[in-house]
Amino acid sequence: HKKELSLLKNEQTITLDGKQFEVAANIGTPNDVESVLEHGGEGVGLYRTEFLYMERDALPTEEEQYQAYKEVLEKMGRKPVVVRTLDIGGDKQLPYLNLPKEMNPFLGYRAIRLCLAEQELFRIQLRALLRASNFGNLKIMFPMIATLEEFLEAKHLLLEEKQSLQKQGFAVAENIEIGIMVEIPSTAILADQFAREVDFFSIGTNDLIQYTMAADRMNERVSYLYQPYNPAILRLVKMVIDAAHAQGKWVGMCGEMAGDPIAIPLLLGLELDEFSMSVPSMLKARNQINQLKQSEMKKLVDKALGMQTSEQVRLYVKEALNIE
Ligand code: PEP
Ligand code: MG
Repeated sequence: HKKELSLLKNEQTITLDGKQFEVAANIGTPNDVESVLEHGGEGVGLYRTEFLYMERDALPTEEEQYQAYKEVLEKMGRKPVVVRTLDIGGDKQLPYLNLPKEMNPFLGYRAIRLCLAEQELFRIQLRALLRASNFGNLKIMFPMIATLEEFLEAKHLLLEEKQSLQKQGFAVAENIEIGIMVEIPSTAILADQFAREVDFFSIGTNDLIQYTMAADRMNERVSYLYQPYNPAILRLVKMVIDAAHAQGKWVGMCGEMAGDPIAIPLLLGLELDEFSMSVPSMLKARNQINQLKQSEMKKLVDKALGMQTSEQVRLYVKEALNIE
């Protein structure tokens, strides 16, 4: 079975009725890129840069970051690489920042909130990214965006750093796409407004489910509420995709849901453009997509959107498509 899947490595991801999708990888370090290419990744949909900052006792320098980003971009060649700026806080802490303990770290000072407050830390990362931008197909993505102001401010800082680098004689790529993660319900609900301002969305379902269901993604006692197929989640995802497409923007998903065999048919029906997942899931996902018809998945998801519970949706998809 594994051998058969490896035959799909150089194939396209395309449904039986000819609709093309992109299967991309979630990575944490430049060392992951080799296996992305071995497993037929069409891009990197999420490069989690936190790992550069973790398990050490000081912030990484601009130069260290530049080298890491450049290496990923060069190894990926023309294929797109979506780099997410620092998403620290919540379950990921940096002891050397000495941040005060919080009652609700997942609702606290993290990700873009921290980056906009600790601007020098953020500017160093932005400079490293911009300097690496000429070595491949870079797209930059901001995590945990809750308001439009946050996005506009982050984008403003990026443009400031770009101008300052150019003044200093650095080559910076033109037309770098700038997007956001949609992982907070306020942003999903206002997706039509965000879609006018961003170049793309990537839906972070790991957090979007946690915040929509008000169920800590790390807490097993409430894990029964962690429901990717809940019609509430499906409707939010649909809103985000439709809002982006209405403005001619593309939408990926980089939460675990994007590689889930029950969710994939639903997401095909909703016309998600890019599926970003852990490397071992990629060929399985391509294999599944290549055996489905998008026209049928549209009918499937229409029905799911009208159901009452997550379990109803799960059983319906499982039985309709004969999924183990
Ligand atoms: C997500 O929230 O879905 C996501 C991809 O980000 P992370 O898992 O790193 O929080
Ligand atoms: Mg997240």
